[in-house]
Amino acid sequence: MATIAIVNHERCVGCELCTRACGVTHAIQLDLERNWVEVSEELCWACGACERMCPFSAIALPPWAEPNKELRDSIYAKNRKPKKSRVVAQAEEIGEEEEEEMLVGRSQ
Ligand code: SF4
Ligand code: SF4
Repeated sequence: MATIAIVNHERCVGCELCTRACGVTHAIQLDLERNWVEVSEELCWACGACERMCPFSAIALPPWAEPNKELRDSIYAKNRKPKKSRVVAQAEEIGEEEEEEMLVGRSQ
């Protein structure tokens, strides 16, 4: 039997946070009818990134698995950073421009 992440369907709420963690291999798919996720045996690298992401402890590697910690942590760190929406990024840009204008105005 392949070592892959295992989903506890009684805990899974289908929030798909784990699918974000699994953005490299895309091994996790949401089953819309059942509202839980499934892991592809062919695609799972057993890195453990999904396990760290799930707030409900609903997905985990089996106890005998030794996760690739380096891969897991780098994927986890990448996915934990909140992505800025375009609107927020633009608002920040405008804010910086206005600040610069104010500073230039003060120095004149
Ligand atoms: S993060 Fe956890 S609860 Fe959410 S879909 Fe994945 S396994 Fe289910
Ligand atoms: S262990 Fe890694 S590759 Fe496997 S489902 Fe979780 S995040 Fe994806």
